[in-house]
Amino acid sequence: MTTRETKINLMGLSLPKMQAFFLELGEKPFRASQTLKWMHQRGVIDIDAMTDISKPLREKMKAVAEIRLPKITQEFRSVDGSCKWIVQVESGSSVEMVFIPEAGRGTLCISSQAGCILDCSFCATGKQGFNSNLTVAEIIGQLWWANEKLAGFGVKPAQEWSEDGKPAQNSRPVSNVVMMGMGEPLLNFDNVMDALTLMMEDQAYGLSKRRVTISTSGVVPAIDRLKDYTDASLAVSLHAPNDLLRNELVPINKKYPIKELLRSVSGYMDGLSDRRVPVIEYTLIAGVNDHRQHARELAQLLKDFPCKINLIPFNPFALSDYRRPSSTSISNFRQILHEAGYTVTVRTTRADDIGAACGQLVGEVGDNTRRSQRYRDAAEAQNEGSGKSGTAPEGTGKRFSKTDNLAVAVDRPAV
Ligand code: SF4
Repeated sequence: MTTRETKINLMGLSLPKMQAFFLELGEKPFRASQTLKWMHQRGVIDIDAMTDISKPLREKMKAVAEIRLPKITQEFRSVDGSCKWIVQVESGSSVEMVFIPEAGRGTLCISSQAGCILDCSFCATGKQGFNSNLTVAEIIGQLWWANEKLAGFGVKPAQEWSEDGKPAQNSRPVSNVVMMGMGEPLLNFDNVMDALTLMMEDQAYGLSKRRVTISTSGVVPAIDRLKDYTDASLAVSLHAPNDLLRNELVPINKKYPIKELLRSVSGYMDGLSDRRVPVIEYTLIAGVNDHRQHARELAQLLKDFPCKINLIPFNPFALSDYRRPSSTSISNFRQILHEAGYTVTVRTTRADDIGAACGQLVGEVGDNTRRSQRYRDAAEAQNEGSGKSGTAPEGTGKRFSKTDNLAVAVDRPAV
């Protein structure tokens, strides 16, 4: 007999996989669309409540399958309308998701991994090490929960938003999804691809490919094969205009340098059926990558690379001695790029009061890599004698306070 542990989790099945599931049961594939609609459009997670499926078939389904969601353990609501939820996944770790309402859209930032192996120097997620890949159900489950928590499922998909930033009456609040939460989405490739399929599937959430964005730090082999799986939009965490600096900030650059990364991203964008450009994400860190010369170098680097540039002033957090640039320096940087002909946006800080602004996300992971312990040890060693602040292991350029709890801090620059 099938045990609870081995039962198939229907929440994690894309349309083709759901069809295969019903074929396996000796049923017609159209049952897959019915089931997807129940779960993702009506919010029903009780198989017995799927009343247009016959009772004998529901019994058959329940014998081998169930519907499991990740758990929401905490919720925070900001005065600016943003929301943050702590999500517990089956590995026991917690991740975060954040909803940010803006003029004309409501964006949900979703996590793909608990922790991250890549260790970018400005990111506390990396300092925690890696714990687990989220399952398809845990990724799509974040979108399910956001819909449930924000408006319930008794509303239509969010197609129309009014100019004042409010969803049309009886419309779902999440109009956009960005895979920019905890983790590198392309290192959890298969699960993220299935979850994206569900986000864009008409029988599920029906989001437009223009409104679903993968943000990557530059896993070139994965970008190279992306076009065979999805046509979602792409954002690239660049953060530096040359390899020397990017090697420090985004260590995966040592393996896949900027030239290779831009070549790979161009290949993906060229394969799309419509005219879209990637977003270049650039976290501005005072005294590190925010000089006028960096802006000029960036303009030169991207001159043959159609893109939009999103500048993200660094949001300081407890573990970091990196500083936010002055508004003059942000404005100068933006102006240089603007004069060079780029479309440039500067991300405004949102949800600061609930710790959900860029760089403030906090979760809890078990560190399989023991990296968080190494950081703690390095901080302790550095602090001895000074009683003040410590420096992260060589190569990160990162400093943090002795009292900081590295195991529970998550920073993601692109929320
Ligand atoms: S910025 Fe992204 S890729 Fe880099 S360590 Fe943080 S979560 Fe990982």
